[in-house]
Amino acid sequence: KKKAKIAAKTATKQVKYGAVLGAGIMGGGIAYQSASKGIPVAMKDITTDALDLGMNEAIKILNKGVKLGKVTPEKMAKVVASINPTLDYAPVANADLVVEAVVENPKVKDIVLQEVEGIIAEDAILTSNTSTISIDLLAKNLKRPELFCGMHFFNPVHKMPLVEVIRGEKTSDETVAATVAYATAMGKSAVVVKDCPGFYVNRVLFPYFRGFSALLQDGADFRQIDKVMAGFGWPMGPAYLLDVVGIDTAYHCTDVLAEGFPTRMAKVDGDAVEKLFKADKYGQKNGSGFYTYG
Ligand code: NAD
Repeated sequence: KKKAKIAAKTATKQVKYGAVLGAGIMGGGIAYQSASKGIPVAMKDITTDALDLGMNEAIKILNKGVKLGKVTPEKMAKVVASINPTLDYAPVANADLVVEAVVENPKVKDIVLQEVEGIIAEDAILTSNTSTISIDLLAKNLKRPELFCGMHFFNPVHKMPLVEVIRGEKTSDETVAATVAYATAMGKSAVVVKDCPGFYVNRVLFPYFRGFSALLQDGADFRQIDKVMAGFGWPMGPAYLLDVVGIDTAYHCTDVLAEGFPTRMAKVDGDAVEKLFKADKYGQKNGSGFYTYG
C-alpha cells in the first residue's frame, strides 16, 4: 500500500531541487545544466579541490555566455548561486532526484549509492550517470530499486542533447517517467533504453575506440587517425575524444565492457589507453593524454 502511494507520487514528481554526487567533468556539467534551467542543486564531492573544479567549470561556461552577450551578469550570478557545493550529505538529503556521477568503479558506486539512499526521502529518485555499469548490478544492494535508474548524460553536458534513461529490471514506470521529465526540464532529449553493460551509445562508441586501438597496433599514428576522422566530417577524432572523455574513465569503461561482452568487446593487446592510464596520463583533466594541454 505504502509502495503504491509512493509510486503515485513519483509519477507526477517534478524535480524542484536536485543533487549531484561527484563534481568532476560530468558532475560539474550536470549541476550547471540543472541550475541554468532554474532547478537548484547540491553538488557533493570528497575534496574542496574537486568542488572548486566543478564550480569553475560552470563559471567558465557562464563567462563565455556573458562575453557573447547570451547570458546577463544577473543570470550568471543566479545560476552560480543555485549550485550548492558541499562536502557533506546534509543538502543532498533535500533532493527530489539525485544523480550519482562519481568514478566509474562498481565498488565505489555501490558504497556511494547505499550511503545516499540512506539519507534521502523515501520517495526520492536515485539515478546513476554510469557510462557502462549495469543498472541491475548497481541496484543489487539498494533497498528501493524501484526508485533507481540510469540517467546517462554525455560530455560536455551543456552541449550534448541526449540523455539515456536506463530502466533496470526493478525500475518502476513512474521512476522512468519522472527521470525523463527532469531530463526534459534540463533541456535534453531523453531516450529510454534497456539495461546491459554499455547501454546504447557506448555499445556503438567503444567498438569505434577498439577499432582505433587496433589501427594503432597496425602502426598508424594517432594524429593521422584524428585528421582523417575530422576530414570524414566528425567533430573530433578518437584520440582527442578519449582525452576529453578522460583516459581513466575510458579505461574503466573498457574493462566493464570486456567483462560484459568477452568476444565483441575483448580488450586489444597493448592497448594505447591502458598504457596511458598506467602512466597516469588521464587526458585533458590532468594535462596530458594522447596530446599535451597547457
Ligand atoms: P571525473 O574523474 O572527472 O570525476 C569523478 C569525481 O568523483 C571526482 O571529482 C572525484 O573526487 C569524485 N568522487 C570520487 N569518490 C567520491 C565519493 N565517494 N563521493 C563523492 N564524489 C566522489 O569523472 P567523470 O568523467 O565526471 O565521470 C563520472 C561518471 O560519469 C563516471 O561514472 C563516468 O563513467 C560517467 N560518464 C563520463 C563521461 C565522460 O565523458 N567523462 C560521459 C558520460 C558518463
